Amino acid sequence: MSRLDSFIRRLTAQRACLDRAAGLIGDIDGPVLELGLGNGRTYDHLRHILPGREIFVFERQVAAHPDCIPDDAHLILGDLAATLPAAMARIGRPAALAHADIGSGDIEATARNAARVAAVLPDLLAPGAVVAADQPLADPRLIALALPDGVQPGRYHLYRRV
Ligand code: SAM
Repeated sequence: MSRLDSFIRRLTAQRACLDRAAGLIGDIDGPVLELGLGNGRTYDHLRHILPGREIFVFERQVAAHPDCIPDDAHLILGDLAATLPAAMARIGRPAALAHADIGSGDIEATARNAARVAAVLPDLLAPGAVVAADQPLADPRLIALALPDGVQPGRYHLYRRV
């Protein structure tokens, strides 16, 4: 598979998982958490597919398309290690959906990042909330869900908060 094929498959899997996650939270009240703004593609997708939901974005350094930057009230700046544990004071109520797209080219740093997120993110989620993630998130409060058709295991991840 070429790198182009791999990139396209990753983004196709990402979109399929976000769409599935959005469809699963119809009965769950609460905002959406976007961990990793990047250039804002998935943030923009989430606001399109969940137009009625408040979306809080976590990012250490904003470098997104200008049209895809949330207002100051919904942008939580800083490293996740510091911002996530204190985030309930900002978001005000448990979230219905979280999307974590936090991987980088550094495999060890990404694994550390994912471990920190897995340990803290469930504290911010409502019972039954759904998580979509580019990295596996190992925590007993997060139960893996089946992936949409066509998404190979390991390419993206879906979880339900118990
Ligand atoms: N989903 C985004 C999109 O569609 O454009 C791409 C996200 S990009 C792969 C990962 C982003 O997560 C980067 O912008 C990076 O700065 C951010 N990030 C990764 N680890 C972080 C951390 N520990 N704290 C804050 N931001 C982090």
